[in-house]
Amino acid sequence: MSNLSDVFNSAAAIAKGMSITFGEMFNPTITDHYPDAPPVFQERFRGAHVLQRDENGLEKCVACFLCAAACPADCIYIEAAENTDTLRISGGERYAKVYNIDYNRCIFCGYCVEACPTDAITHGHGFELASYNTSTLIYRKEHMLAPIPEGAHFPLKAEESSEPAGH
Ligand code: SF4
Ligand code: SF4
Repeated sequence: MSNLSDVFNSAAAIAKGMSITFGEMFNPTITDHYPDAPPVFQERFRGAHVLQRDENGLEKCVACFLCAAACPADCIYIEAAENTDTLRISGGERYAKVYNIDYNRCIFCGYCVEACPTDAITHGHGFELASYNTSTLIYRKEHMLAPIPEGAHFPLKAEESSEPAGH
């Protein structure tokens, strides 16, 4: 009796699998015409990183080093510096004076993104990273910084940035 139910279950599993196969056969084929047209990415695609700014144009990175600590490939290099009375770069006490990612080593695991407490580092959709020259695969902060939002007053003086929102 159990042999009969095994056969029945196997046949049902095969029929279920084949129904998906046949269903897909009659769906339209989707082809990206890259490089003639840009490819379409899912939102979750993990491409080259972007260092984000807040709505005032301040860098979200506060140089806490958590992303570097979480990186299993040891490919993030950061040098921290203090914001001063005359020049504020980030919303915190410190900012990343140097922020490098070595794409020779990055495995696009996303651990750095998950570790970041300020949502400063995210994966963008940039994917054209291949190069014959490995030295070009070390991306500096300047490569990765998001543009300053339109209308933002940047760089802000420290006293200006500490004013309550709306002033
Ligand atoms: S995606 Fe992974 S390997 Fe790449 S920098 Fe982030 S933590 Fe490191
Ligand atoms: S990107 Fe995020 S986790 Fe990395 S140093 Fe900056 S604030 Fe910290």
